Amino acid sequence: MSIFCPKCGTQLPDGAVACSNCGAQLGAAPVQPQPQPAAPVYQAPVAPAAPRQANGTRALCMLSYLGIFSLYALVLNKEDPDIRFHVNQALCLEVFVLIASLCNIVPILGQIAFFVALVMYIVFTIMGILNAKNGVQKELPIVGKYRIF
Ligand SMILES: [Zn+2]
Repeated sequence: MSIFCPKCGTQLPDGAVACSNCGAQLGAAPVQPQPQPAAPVYQAPVAPAAPRQANGTRALCMLSYLGIFSLYALVLNKEDPDIRFHVNQALCLEVFVLIASLCNIVPILGQIAFFVALVMYIVFTIMGILNAKNGVQKELPIVGKYRIF
């Protein structure tokens, strides 16, 4: 498409900023360069090999220890070995505290046992969350060696 000088009418090449005949500045008015038909699609550079464990995965691993969120972590990424590991650890803990809660039936001694188990549960949960935060698969003492999941 050609443009024409608004002053003298000379045909000018596309993109000219001044008339080659009369020297008039073509400036703002006449012709905007044709908008590109489509902005070139930005190709995201291929990500370099992802680190073994992304931060998002770590967060999910940490969530695994918070009750129902372990299901959430599983649903989001059940193939991830780190998530599977930590969900399993968390489930071991749940089972442990569930069994311990049965001790409550026995007065005094059972209740003491349950209390001890509850403290262990809390401590192990924190340990598990820290392991998840640090991206390590480290079995929890006592309860962590079982494979439920
Ligand atoms: Zn002109």
